[in-house]
Amino acid sequence: MMTILNYINGSLDAPASQQYLDNYNPATGTIYSQTPDSDEADVNRAVEAAADAFESWSALPAEERCKLLLRIADLIDSKTSELAEAESTDNGKPLKLASIIDIPRASSNFRFFATAAMQFASESHIMEHQAINYTLRQPVGVVGCISPWNLPLYLFTWKIAPALAAGNCIVAKPSEVTPMTAFELSKICMEAGLPPGVLNIIHGTGPKAGNAIVEHPKVKLISFTGSTRAGREIASKAAPQFKKLSLELGGKNPNIIFADCDFEQMMKTTINSSFSNQGQICLCGSRILVEDRIYEAFKKRFIEETAKLKVGNPMDKDTRIGAIVSRQQFEKIQYYIELAKAEGGAIVFGGDAVNPGGAFEQGWYMQPTIIEGLGPECRTNMEEIFGPVVTLQKFSSDEEALRLANASDYGLSATIWTQNLNRAHHIAAKLECGIVWINCWLLRDLRTPFGGTKNSGVGREGGYEAMRFFTEPKNVCVKL
Ligand code: NAD
Repeated sequence: MMTILNYINGSLDAPASQQYLDNYNPATGTIYSQTPDSDEADVNRAVEAAADAFESWSALPAEERCKLLLRIADLIDSKTSELAEAESTDNGKPLKLASIIDIPRASSNFRFFATAAMQFASESHIMEHQAINYTLRQPVGVVGCISPWNLPLYLFTWKIAPALAAGNCIVAKPSEVTPMTAFELSKICMEAGLPPGVLNIIHGTGPKAGNAIVEHPKVKLISFTGSTRAGREIASKAAPQFKKLSLELGGKNPNIIFADCDFEQMMKTTINSSFSNQGQICLCGSRILVEDRIYEAFKKRFIEETAKLKVGNPMDKDTRIGAIVSRQQFEKIQYYIELAKAEGGAIVFGGDAVNPGGAFEQGWYMQPTIIEGLGPECRTNMEEIFGPVVTLQKFSSDEEALRLANASDYGLSATIWTQNLNRAHHIAAKLECGIVWINCWLLRDLRTPFGGTKNSGVGREGGYEAMRFFTEPKNVCVKL
């Protein structure tokens, strides 16, 4: 059985306590590796290593940092199939998805921010005949990056790459539920020649290892992606120490479908935005709002298309819905399906666990599930389920669509399907969220601001937003 190790000061180490956590393969429900149950002692060592490395890393010319990050990107590309297999085994997602989305995106993150290091510039402000101000944008120092299990390497690198590009040193923690590709990344960084201490990867739980990173006084910034619950806890610890904070949290995103949309394109994309990655993408459109004129036609066809999705072995090339990441998440999804029924909802498709049999008998599989008949205020429509479960609601006017869309306490993303661009722009401006897609979903330009409002978090990642977040601006005023 493989043993995962921490990556501290350039070497792979066992946790100080010698304690490990079981790591499961969700496709089979069996333990297949051990991951460090790190604690404060490991985090302290990592922070010291990062602090020691900071002076030379931050002083390195941007071109040198760029070259190293490009080397990491190339190494990820050269190992795409191994990394995709590792991601699929660890997370339960279809191998195909990991091969075409997760791993290519991880190398894109490094490549994108490698070049950002070369392009990043700061402002100057002239006071005519009096003075010139220029802004220095300096790296923050030692920063903490904490990420979730749904897109493990993809989201881990989305934080690490800009933090390194901007000249920071990092103590990072992947989810304890999916630690494998972060471990592989440690080896890649060693192979790429990343100087010791520049990136340290600590494995372990949120309350122990994660909390030690958040509370450490030398960690000046926290970039966190995960649940709203953990985000709230992290904010309560980081705020009194005045740490810079970016919180990318949960979502309950509306997918607003008007009768005048391109029906075929909408249907194809709505299947993906509902059930890709087992519905475990923070941007999934879990509340589908359909104009009443096409509600019945939409429902019929949506059920037909959903029924075609093959649930089962993630390694099978025809599988569209793999395993749910953990028993805990599997039980949470089942809990919400029962809650939906208790709230008066009708399950119009799915609702049950799936047993693919054979070696996969003990794995955690759920049918894609469609629920209707519930209003905007019920818990099923208010709380994040984070599984292959969507609800359908009807609307009859633009105002009603907006009211339903904005009824959520979350505000991450939204999708609008209509051929009427006036209406689309109007609604996009009024939606309470950070990201809007019109006639598409998950089309990502890495330069754009990424993040949410309301209970979906604070701060933005992506492009210059990330480079600004990972730097501290300092104004220098020179009298003319
Ligand atoms: P989680 O909050 O349980 O864990 C996320 C990470 O935080 C893990 O590494 C975990 O160990 C750590 N953690 C947990 N409690 C902590 C604490 N008190 N202090 C420090 N670290 C702590 O989330 P999860 O279940 O892994 O991920 C699913 C959630 O992530 C969903 O809510 C989903 O919407 C959200 N998510 C958001 C985005 C986004 O960009 N907004 C992207 C992906 C996932």
